[in-house]
Parts: sequence; structure tokens; C-alpha cells
Amino acid sequence: MTPVVELRGVSRVYPGGVTALREVSVAIGRGELVGIVGPSGSGKSTMLNMIGTLDRPSAGSVHVEEYDVHSLTDRELSALRARVLGFVFQQFHLAAGVSALDNVADGLLYTGTNLRERRRQAREALGRVGLGHRVDHQPHEMSGGERQRVAIARAVVGEPALLLADEPTGNLDTQSGAGVIALLRELNAAGTTVVIITHDRDIAAGLPRQVDMRDGEIVGDHRG
Ligand code: ADP
Repeated sequence: MTPVVELRGVSRVYPGGVTALREVSVAIGRGELVGIVGPSGSGKSTMLNMIGTLDRPSAGSVHVEEYDVHSLTDRELSALRARVLGFVFQQFHLAAGVSALDNVADGLLYTGTNLRERRRQAREALGRVGLGHRVDHQPHEMSGGERQRVAIARAVVGEPALLLADEPTGNLDTQSGAGVIALLRELNAAGTTVVIITHDRDIAAGLPRQVDMRDGEIVGDHRG
């Protein structure tokens, strides 16, 4: 079966000459739950930018579903990204002064769905992340763990094939962080492919597949 995302011999050299990724090849299959783990500076964010098609490689190719990203225009790439990928970041990135419901409903803006239907789907997504009772709350009225759940609901409301989470527990206390990881596991069990970028070995160790990064290279890829 076609992987959701595949990197083939991907390198990324930043202006100034830093090689942040060196001929990295990796495929993320449908239904997987993968941790990409490594110390600061090992190339995790660069890898996330490649998998998420937020940046283009200096060499090698990136494939999302059946598309070679290189062959797409910026407009086609944005459309592909919006349809296939959901993003969750360490800093939540929720709109201030906007209810949880409308923060999540905004995740469907690109689809052209009307507001009433976007809100219906947003309500359902908030239910899925255990926040059915917080739909009218604004970000400043919620805990960090709740905010990250809203961000996750926004990322999955359009039912993306792949959820990409960049240090999703980085701003949370241990207990809220564990709750967020448990939620990502639940979403994976329900069918979403999930990639978690983390520097936290304990989090990665609990995941069914761990890709280890060091100095821009994959130094380990373990299952089980
Ligand atoms: P990580 O996410 O594991 O901390 P990064 O992918 O952010 O690693 O960084 C990998 C390497 O690339 C580091 O040496 C970092 O300093 C360098 N780097 C990252 N982004 C840039 C950039 N925009 N310009 C120049 N160097 C960068």
C-alpha cells in the first residue's frame, strides 16, 4: 500500500551551509503511530517541515500519498496539505478571544463548508477529544492540556490521513502531557496515522515505532 508520506534520500542544507538533514529515507504507513526522537539540533524540526511539506528539500524527494511534492505548484501543495495533513504544535496556536468551537470550526475553512456545518463537525470533534463541555470557552479560560486538546480537535476535524504533532507535550505538566499522548493513541486506534516529534525518550519509548535522529541522520528505526 502507498505510504501516507515517504522521504527518499532527503537532504536539507540551510543557507550558511548547515546540513540539517542528510539523505534521509523513511516511509510512514497508513495507521502507524510513530515517534521521531532525538536531542535538540538533531534535525527533528527540519524533518517535520519535510514530512509536512512546509519546506522543500535541497536534494531527494518527498511523496505524500501518490504525489511527488516537487511536481506540485504552491497552490496544489497547499490544497494537498489542507486535505491530508493535520498539525499540532507545542504552542497550541489557537486564536485568542475565539471560542473552542470556532477555533476548531476554522480547521474546515479551506473546505468551503458553510459555518453551520463547520460548527456541527467542530462540536463532534471536541466531543472526540473529551471537551464536549467546553465548546463555548475561549483559550484563556482553559488549562494548557485543554488548549492542546482543542488544537488536536482542530487538526483532526477535517479527518486528515496524517496528524503531525511537534513536541505536543512541550508546554504541559507531566499529567496533562500524558493525557495528550493518551488522546493521540486513541485517535490512532480509531484510524488516524500519527507522527509525534519529541525530544522526550520516555514518550517515544511508549510508541509502537521510534525513529531516532542524530546529526541530521536516522540512526535507529525500531518497532515494538
Ligand atoms: P531539532 O528540531 O532536532 O532541534 P532542527 O531541525 O531545528 O533540529 O535543526 C537541525 C540543525 O539545523 C541545527 O544545527 C540547527 O541549528 C540548524 N538549523 C535549523 N534551522 C535553520 C535555519 N533556518 N537556518 C540555518 N540553520 C538552521
